[in-house]
Amino acid sequence: MLAERKIAPIEMVVLQGTPFCNLNCSYCYLGEATRRNTATMQPDVLKAIFERILGSRYIDRALRVSWHSGEPMVLKPSYYREAIGTILELRDALCGPDFGISFDLQTNGTLITQEWCDFLKELGDIISIGISCDGPAFLHDAHRLSWTHKPTHQRTLAGMELMRRNGLRFDAIAVLSRDGLAHPEAFVNFFAQYADSIRDFHFNLHDELDVVSMDPGSVDAFAAQYGDFLRRMLAVYARWGIDGTRLSIRNFASFYERIFSAEADKPRYDARSMSMPFRTLNVMTNGDVSTFYAGLTGDECGDLYGDGRGLLLGNLLSDDLDAIAGSGKLARIAADFEASHAACEHDCEYFDLCAGGYNLVKFRRYADFTATRTPECFVHVQTFTDTLLDDMNRNARSSAV
Ligand code: SF4
Repeated sequence: MLAERKIAPIEMVVLQGTPFCNLNCSYCYLGEATRRNTATMQPDVLKAIFERILGSRYIDRALRVSWHSGEPMVLKPSYYREAIGTILELRDALCGPDFGISFDLQTNGTLITQEWCDFLKELGDIISIGISCDGPAFLHDAHRLSWTHKPTHQRTLAGMELMRRNGLRFDAIAVLSRDGLAHPEAFVNFFAQYADSIRDFHFNLHDELDVVSMDPGSVDAFAAQYGDFLRRMLAVYARWGIDGTRLSIRNFASFYERIFSAEADKPRYDARSMSMPFRTLNVMTNGDVSTFYAGLTGDECGDLYGDGRGLLLGNLLSDDLDAIAGSGKLARIAADFEASHAACEHDCEYFDLCAGGYNLVKFRRYADFTATRTPECFVHVQTFTDTLLDDMNRNARSSAV
């Protein structure tokens, strides 16, 4: 059983309203069968889940509810109007109106209509939208295709344009694939065109095992390419400071925040804290639940924990959170994650600046949570950190002369 102090208050609940997606992106972490599954989280299931969560002792003062893991806009605005109404009613009854709840939908943007825009205006500040777009068409359409292999960039763009015309702001999330590394200016300038509408921009370097192979030469080449991409992107970023373009790039902002945060706040940003049990709960359409990171499914880690259910910890229709918090399975997974963090802390000089999230990558690579300095670490963490620190040092030197 896990000591209580090792369980975080729940900050985020990721809801899979439906696993179904209208697109078939080449890098999607959900399997094809999952993305073709049209199951929907039913209103009574959603109500039972939030009775369980909001009535528990594992909440603090606020909660974010995020719909993703499937295309949320496959369901209609009326679905979300009812779901949000139910959650807010339960909030008022169980926690009081001062308990903060915000909502977001992570969408591919292809299904945004005027009806959606009206819905977003109606709900105002309590809901936000994150749109997945990989930049200009030649990068986006290389990977983000429909089930019939058609390009989707125009449809995503139409959604972004409609949001803009309605005066609605959104977050933008891009996957940066290896073919994008040669085009940092085209990549980031695409998003700069929407700077007035984008609240926050974030990119994820595609990290499938086949992208970063085990061959050291290939890892070095990939890291060098990524370092060059970042340097050129930072040069564009610096020019924006002069020409007044205001697009916040969260990858950079989070890194600077981590570096410049007060010593007392630093533990909040480290890998251990980011993946504390319960900080994020992922709930599938049928109430199955996992924790540690957003988006984890029952497919992770095979039968490592002996029940054939991957990292799933139970079902919120039948298991209360005390039972899940006290379960032997959660204790075993948490022990594996802690062994992973302890190994990082011991072995890796980048530990203080690593945002974490690599526990499962280590396991997939080496079937060993205590592995450190994987090829992904070298590219994503070390190359990123070194490039940004070099850039900061260069800027500091040039402003000193
Ligand atoms: S870079 Fe890799 S080895 Fe280093 S702290 Fe991060 S996950 Fe651990």
